[in-house]
Amino acid sequence: QARLMWPLLGLMRVALDLQTSQALFARIFEYVDLRPAIADAPNAHPANAAKLGRIEFDDVVFAYPDAGADARPTLKGVSFAIEPGQFAAFVGPSGAGKTTVSYLIPRFHDVTSGRILFAGDDVRELEQESLVANIGIVSQETYLFHATIAENLRYAKPGASDEELVFAAQAANIHDTIVSFPDGYDTVVGERGYRLSGGEKQRIAIARVLLKDPRVLILDEATSSLDSISERVVQDALDTASAGRTTIAIAHRLSTIVSADVIFVVDGGRIVERGSHAELAAAGGVYAGLYREQVSSAGA
Ligand code: ATP
Repeated sequence: QARLMWPLLGLMRVALDLQTSQALFARIFEYVDLRPAIADAPNAHPANAAKLGRIEFDDVVFAYPDAGADARPTLKGVSFAIEPGQFAAFVGPSGAGKTTVSYLIPRFHDVTSGRILFAGDDVRELEQESLVANIGIVSQETYLFHATIAENLRYAKPGASDEELVFAAQAANIHDTIVSFPDGYDTVVGERGYRLSGGEKQRIAIARVLLKDPRVLILDEATSSLDSISERVVQDALDTASAGRTTIAIAHRLSTIVSADVIFVVDGGRIVERGSHAELAAAGGVYAGLYREQVSSAGA
């Protein structure tokens, strides 16, 4: 239960702006308090605007608090730096720790040892609001509230005009789909609402990110396969969304990350290889193996 809940709760916290209508906030949050136990340090400050987009892990060791005292850490000394505007991809076998890396950046959990620097400062010294405001996540789990599509989009930017919603939806390749629904942007979705496909939900999530306009984007690629047409449409929308932002992509399909500035191969809680696609493909290591596997299964 905890395993399922934590990432979801964290995601919702980032997805939602705290300035969202207080009443709505209370309604959604009355069942569970989604705010993590982590509190702002007494002297917490906002992120340094001049360095926004830079992310660094410095020898990060992390063990899930609920994994038991004798459990081995999930991350065992991870160090890397991503410069503003770069597209970084994390690949590796299931359970390697890729998602865990991405969830430590918005401080859903605190490191066991080591440091995570966001715009040059340890995340534990920053106001969490500053992390929430500067990080956007598009994950496999797009949470839609039982509300209209317009309302679902406005969670990302309260007070956004109708024109802004349409602009974001167009850039996310979902506008035409929305206007084809019975009530257009007023179509009620979510729990017992109009059912959206996985690809449609993802594009709503992308439109939200575009409205929010964060400096850092985390993309947790869906493992469930979309058909190739929706996959193309979603991929185009993701390319639009990542332009000009530091993007951290957790990739399962290597075809989506061949043009990444840097690829980190994670295995057993460590970064075992790093470099561009060309470098890693030529190195003949773990990445080259994964790539060969995917190319041959795609051709089969
Ligand atoms: P995948 O490609 O399957 O998504 P991943 O590389 O993203 O895998 P993580 O989700 O980061 O891997 O998980 C790394 C390890 O941490 C796994 O062994 C997983 O079982 C464990 N883990 C993940 N979340 C929790 C949690 N909330 N509590 C305890 N252990 C967890």
